[in-house]
Amino acid sequence: MDFQVTIIGAGAVGCAVAYELSQDYETIAVIEKEEGVCRGVSSRNSEVIHAGIYYPKDSLKAKVCVEGNRLLYDFCQTNDVPHKKYTKLIVANGSEEESLLEGIYQRGTENGAELQIFTQSEVRKLEPNINATAAIFSPNTGIIDSHSLTDAYLHKSNAELFAHTKVIGVEKIEGGYEVIVREHTGEEFSFTTEILVNSAGLYCDEVAKLCGIDSEKEKYTLVFCKGDYFSVQNGKNKLVSRLIYPVVKKNFKGLGVHVTLSLGGEMRLGPDVEFISKEENYYVNPSKSAEFYEAVKSFLPFVEPQDLAPEMSGIRPKLASHIEAPPDFIVSEESEKGFKNLVNLIGIESPGLTSSLAIAKLVREKIGKQ
Ligand SMILES: Cc1cc2nc3c(=O)[nH]c(=O)nc-3n(C[C@H](O)[C@H](O)[C@H](O)COP(=O)(O)OP(=O)(O)OC[C@H]3O[C@@H](n4cnc5c(N)ncnc54)[C@H](O)[C@@H]3O)c2cc1C
Repeated sequence: MDFQVTIIGAGAVGCAVAYELSQDYETIAVIEKEEGVCRGVSSRNSEVIHAGIYYPKDSLKAKVCVEGNRLLYDFCQTNDVPHKKYTKLIVANGSEEESLLEGIYQRGTENGAELQIFTQSEVRKLEPNINATAAIFSPNTGIIDSHSLTDAYLHKSNAELFAHTKVIGVEKIEGGYEVIVREHTGEEFSFTTEILVNSAGLYCDEVAKLCGIDSEKEKYTLVFCKGDYFSVQNGKNKLVSRLIYPVVKKNFKGLGVHVTLSLGGEMRLGPDVEFISKEENYYVNPSKSAEFYEAVKSFLPFVEPQDLAPEMSGIRPKLASHIEAPPDFIVSEESEKGFKNLVNLIGIESPGLTSSLAIAKLVREKIGKQ
């Protein structure tokens, strides 16, 4: 075989898998259709190191987020990846929201996240410019530079990166797979691999199909769910010093428009939730500023509609079968479907960045068991 392992996709998750599998394998290829690492979902997100608060108890998301949070801070410290433990408040205003806060606190602590409930005066001491009658304080929430992280994963691995190279076909062969690729010059070639990991982000359902998996039957089909961000202008972008989230209301899609911070401390608002057709469209419509203002005015009293400017957007790879229910990650070694040593990573939306090392460990475990 040309390679022991081939990973399709050089995002944060694919490169974390390359890093983790470097403990067991010497020849690893990472195949990326774009010009380098971290050009997909990993390059357009909030860059929050989540604590694991919201996910259903015993879900894979809860498990890999809590474990991934710890692993990520350790990795960043050891490898000098820029990050900051800003901490986070989930704020309630009024008795109805306070009772919802209690539910979030319970779920988060059950998941293993370290949390505290703060009173109005405790919140005021931390963040004098926001409105909150009570809040959850999360000491382990932070921000990371996702580009530096992805670079560090690859750099610390044994892997060879093939950029500008798109996987266009996969054939099952004796003892592994033949991977057919097309370079950006149009030239096509193929190579063989024992183990194949599909970490293709927004296109993982299509890549699973290329491998011979019936993506519709297996419920791997994705829909694109866009999230827009607005920056806060007029000298107001440093009026908070940690991440601020509203309580998640019933039937709310996503976590609600919230405050995240850049590593330089500038605030931005987002992401919202908008299902779009299956093409990468990152345009942020300025007219959405009114919705963003409505979403934050109760807890960010200093924000005025004219302070908001379109900033950026990202697209979540969301499982089509789970639009209403909370979706979980799929990490599946496909021996049972007749594809030994093929691992599909499907629907790796948030908290995929936080969970990248824990997902990679799971991939290693699943391969080891075969
Ligand atoms: C709006 C938004 C906010 C988010 N916020 C957070 C957050 O705060 N914290 C957090 O933990 N997570 C967050 N996430 C989730 C996180 O960004 C993702 O889970 C993570 O980046 C996924 O990484 P990935 O490597 O799976 O995918 P990607 O980064 O998309 O990598 C997949 C790669 O595969 C390549 N590829 C696809 N098809 C092929 C092919 N046929 N051949 C070769 N290459 C191919 C793509 O070009 C891409 O580079 C957010 C996501 C979004 C959209």
